[in-house]
Amino acid sequence: MQPKSIQKSAMQTSFMHINDKQSMNAWIVAACWLVCWFVFAMFTALLSLPAHGTSWADFTQPLAGKPAAIGSYANGCIIGAQPLALAGEGYQVIRSQRQRYYGHPNLVNFIEQLAKAFKQQNGNDLLIADMSMPRGGRFQSGHRSHQSGLDVDIWFRHGQGELTVAELESPLKQDVVTKGTLSVNQQWQTSHATMIRLAAEAPEVARIFVNPAIKQQLCNMSWQDDTWLQKVRPWWGHSLHMHVRLCCPDSDTECQNQSVIPAGTGCDELAWWQQQLTAPKQVENSPKKPAKPKIKVLHPQCEQILQR
Ligand SMILES: [Zn+2]
Repeated sequence: MQPKSIQKSAMQTSFMHINDKQSMNAWIVAACWLVCWFVFAMFTALLSLPAHGTSWADFTQPLAGKPAAIGSYANGCIIGAQPLALAGEGYQVIRSQRQRYYGHPNLVNFIEQLAKAFKQQNGNDLLIADMSMPRGGRFQSGHRSHQSGLDVDIWFRHGQGELTVAELESPLKQDVVTKGTLSVNQQWQTSHATMIRLAAEAPEVARIFVNPAIKQQLCNMSWQDDTWLQKVRPWWGHSLHMHVRLCCPDSDTECQNQSVIPAGTGCDELAWWQQQLTAPKQVENSPKKPAKPKIKVLHPQCEQILQR
């Protein structure tokens, strides 16, 4: 028989083991619960995330519904946009991987009609660049406008026959302007003037933005009827493409047109552009106050569309 002190110590040791095991089990159970809770919480959080993300570029499909352009060209969106077929009679869409070939049905129809008319007159295909994203909205790169499904860029490059898939994805550019001047360069052809005139004569077109040198060229040419020149607006850049902007469709009550263009052909405005191009750049002596970033408030309907 063992002495009492040894028996007591053995009992203590055995109790300690039991206590250790119990506390170990409790820890394991607690850890399991913690892991389960964490997995459950993550799963719930994932389910509650919006399916679209937070950017207009995340939408891969138009919002179904009666077509409606909403808001302004530079702060808007679109319901019921249509994709332009990537190739049709007289045109091909370039850089389609960007998913910017959606627009109001009026815009899709305008492009199809313009391409047919141009093909009949000129025999060439048009290269159609950016329209809008599937639900319009603000771009992460590139354009300020093109947001309400009513703008399209059409390249000046044409006449090289049908482009291959690889060429369409990264097409060669054709700049028709001599930089820093009001003159077009040797790449300019009369077919470019035809393309702009045909577009400007369409009643649904509100404005066409081109480089001032192109507007100057059009003003230099003689036309039987030059009233369409009013819609051709000189703007920075735009020497690789013309930017066509349609009027708000009458039925789209939330669509905001731009202000009315002043009467006349606008050819007399080119002196101002000449000044801009030739005036020596002013040197800033005092550091400028950093401009406050302008935060545009979305149209309420666009806000709703973005949250869907
Ligand atoms: Zn544009």
